[in-house]
Amino acid sequence: MRKKIVAGNWKMNNNLNETKKLIKELKNELKGFEFDNTRVIIAPSFVNLQQAVKKTEETKIEVSAQNLHQAKNGAFTGEVSAEMLVDIGIDIVILGHSERRAYFNETDESLALKVKTAIANGLDVIFCFGEQLEDRTSENHFKVVEEQLRNALFGLSSEAYNNIILAYEPVWAIGTGQTATADQAQEMHYFIRNLLAKEYNDALAQEVSILYGGSVKPNNAEEIFSKPDVDGGLIGGASLKAEDFSAIVKSI
Ligand code: PEP
Repeated sequence: MRKKIVAGNWKMNNNLNETKKLIKELKNELKGFEFDNTRVIIAPSFVNLQQAVKKTEETKIEVSAQNLHQAKNGAFTGEVSAEMLVDIGIDIVILGHSERRAYFNETDESLALKVKTAIANGLDVIFCFGEQLEDRTSENHFKVVEEQLRNALFGLSSEAYNNIILAYEPVWAIGTGQTATADQAQEMHYFIRNLLAKEYNDALAQEVSILYGGSVKPNNAEEIFSKPDVDGGLIGGASLKAEDFSAIVKSI
């Protein structure tokens, strides 16, 4: 049975004290929550990952990085390798977020390399993709999403999908307060699952968790998560408040 997942992308927010405080509040809010088949993940900034790992040690909350570099090591000033992340107890990384694509020139091709490196190091990958507003208004959203997946992921073996979590994030819904409707999310997730079934096989397609991201809040999470092909969410803004994030977690 595929996992339900709620992941919080903290982006470039929270210093060390704020990180510790938010984790403490989250632990309180999630006391008594039955994790069962649900993974709860937080993604603080690189500098606070080690402390986040320590502070979540006795809990079921998992910690993810927000990026990595594809090379093993070397002259890449300012970058962080997969090995470094694994070394401090990280086993998940977010790759391909639209902000990294837009502001740091990440492409499907560079992301394909990052995904391979992450998987070779045993990391789970939350792979983000999604169309721009103009793609949707011109009804090219399915084509754009298919291309992103084909270019970055479809070179992978079937086994690699044990480590892949997909996160469909229509760019027009990220941080805008404008969410896709639950039906729009379901329609795209269904399309993606069919694509996986065609490219690989149905069993694989049924096992891959597909998250929705884009202005998920406590007041819309339940409806979005109720759709059969939506296996959870990648949460930005609302993951910065323990009360909101845990309310979203409890909607799963
Ligand atoms: C995101 O950045 O991945 C995201 C979904 O942000 P928000 O929830 O703030 O739209």
